[in-house]
Amino acid sequence: MIYNIFMKPNMTLPELSERIAETLQVIAPPARVAILIAIGRGEACVCHLESILGWRQAYISQHLMALRKADILSDRREGRYVYYRLKDEAILALVRDAAILAGLSPADVDALANPEPGSECECPHCIPNLIPLESLIIK
Ligand SMILES: [Zn+2]
Repeated sequence: MIYNIFMKPNMTLPELSERIAETLQVIAPPARVAILIAIGRGEACVCHLESILGWRQAYISQHLMALRKADILSDRREGRYVYYRLKDEAILALVRDAAILAGLSPADVDALANPEPGSECECPHCIPNLIPLESLIIK
């Protein structure tokens, strides 16, 4: 992504609108709104989101990839887990504002953000005392 650091308009209104619309479009599908709220201010792996949302891993991964490609999510690998987080919390503010425009309470968004996963999630965040597989390998 290229930003104009000299603060002079270097694009037309249609070009500007096109760029803004790209961001709105990438977060618009309900599944992606749900993923963004579920990640909230924390970070989550695919199995964590699978446990919270109850959707198939392939379906969640497909949306995670689209959000990452659009620079909305960043990822971090830790052992066999990949954790996703919001690159900028402004996206969460945008979702809350959209909730208000939809006649909802932003408190409802906050109440559902970062939910506790079901017992199916075995990521180190949910089971912190799980012995890492790597440490069991005899050298
Ligand atoms: Zn988890």
